[in-house]
Amino acid sequence: PLSTTDLIEEHRICVCVRKRPLNKKELTIRDLDVITIPSKDVVMVHEPKQKVDLTRYLENQTFRFDYAFDDSTTNEMVYRFTARPLVETIFERGMATCFAYGQTGSGKTHTMGGDFSGKNQDCSKGIYALASRDVFVMLKKPCHKKLDLQVYATFFEIYSGKVFDLLNGKAKLRVLEDGKQQVQVVGLHERDVKCTEDVLKLIEVGNSCRTSGQTSANAHSSRSHAVFQIILRRKGKMHGKFSLIDLAGNERGADTSSADRQTRLEGAEINKSLLALKECIRALGRNKPHTPFRASKLTQVLRDSFIGENSRTCMIATISPGMTSCENTLNTLRYANRWA
Ligand code: ADP
Ligand code: MG
Repeated sequence: PLSTTDLIEEHRICVCVRKRPLNKKELTIRDLDVITIPSKDVVMVHEPKQKVDLTRYLENQTFRFDYAFDDSTTNEMVYRFTARPLVETIFERGMATCFAYGQTGSGKTHTMGGDFSGKNQDCSKGIYALASRDVFVMLKKPCHKKLDLQVYATFFEIYSGKVFDLLNGKAKLRVLEDGKQQVQVVGLHERDVKCTEDVLKLIEVGNSCRTSGQTSANAHSSRSHAVFQIILRRKGKMHGKFSLIDLAGNERGADTSSADRQTRLEGAEINKSLLALKECIRALGRNKPHTPFRASKLTQVLRDSFIGENSRTCMIATISPGMTSCENTLNTLRYANRWA
């Protein structure tokens, strides 16, 4: 039987894994798909604690998650089982967070931001947009209408422990903590949004800001955490907040030996923040009063989302299917594995 602690954790934290299809490059080099997600139609059967199996190639490597999505799953479907339940939370005066975690190229941005593979930059199918759409749908319900809630959005990036506003030309921002331990990102632009289209425009602005001025766009974006927030306010006061986070790539092997000092520092900072994040989510699940949020800028900025009665979080671990990504995939699965 489940203990009380398990029940709290069960209710507050959802961890799932998403496998992407083999890409062109992997197919060209005849990379092997080494990830098996047992049971067809995993999502349809809605059976929790799905397995991800690596036993075909590596012995005794099975991991369990609340949900496992195979490579045929759409963003809409992933959204329905991960972020969608958290939209309710922010209407109930709660704090919600949804993270995409995984190695560079595994599908974090595809999941959160949308499809940017072709010529058409389509952010309407990412979880940022899908969650926003449902916030506006929920807002029209009579029970919410009478609350007279206003919707705002922010979009910022944390790079090497510094915060940059993606809705204000990448302005560098300071993070302050007041005497009451309230954390504030000073001067962060909070844009009011009236409909999904407003949000899509902001996502486009933020995305282009994120990648501009970089010689290699992905090199930079893979080393920063992007935070998109939907905030509900009532008479100016915060009612609920949904933070959707496209985390920095978790592969850091090459950094530690890099000759470039900056690269090594960046890598160390990313490691630190991802470890701190895991600790904070664990603390949330176990209802621990002391959350080590100060250990990194990421967790510090998200402090209010890790405390409080009504905080819920979801982690989507994205994985590449290829044999050539095996080491990174294993690291991702270990990090996310039931928070064991
Ligand atoms: P990351 O943000 O983790 O570095 P991306 O989201 O940029 O990875 O994905 C890398 C590439 O793989 C992109 O071209 C993206 O369109 C593609 N991709 C990722 N996930 C999927 C998926 N589930 N289905 C189809 N293509 C995907
Ligand atoms: Mg990305």
